[in-house]
Amino acid sequence: MARDWKEQKLAMERIERLFQLAEDVFGSRPERAHRDVEVARKIAMRYNMRIPPRLRARFCGKCYKYLKPNVNCKVSVRSGLVVVRCLECGSINKMAFRRVAAAGRRPARQAIL
Ligand SMILES: [Zn+2]
Repeated sequence: MARDWKEQKLAMERIERLFQLAEDVFGSRPERAHRDVEVARKIAMRYNMRIPPRLRARFCGKCYKYLKPNVNCKVSVRSGLVVVRCLECGSINKMAFRRVAAAGRRPARQAIL
């Protein structure tokens, strides 16, 4: 059954809020931040929604842990790609530079930091 657009809007608000909470709490309770990402992903799956690229750059595509640059991931830019290396599991996530830049209405480096 098709879902109400109001439900989808609410789900997106909850996802955004969870990522915001994850960012706030990561310094003191990283496990809580990882859990927030897990819940946000579950909401997106339940409502069959995509997590926007600017938020997708904030967690690992393999272990799904919340990523903070220079704390548990390394970010570099090479040949049109933003390369995010997760220091939790060692996997490398690549995103097109243009896509990340377009997502945040800010310069690409700031969009994911
Ligand atoms: Zn990882």
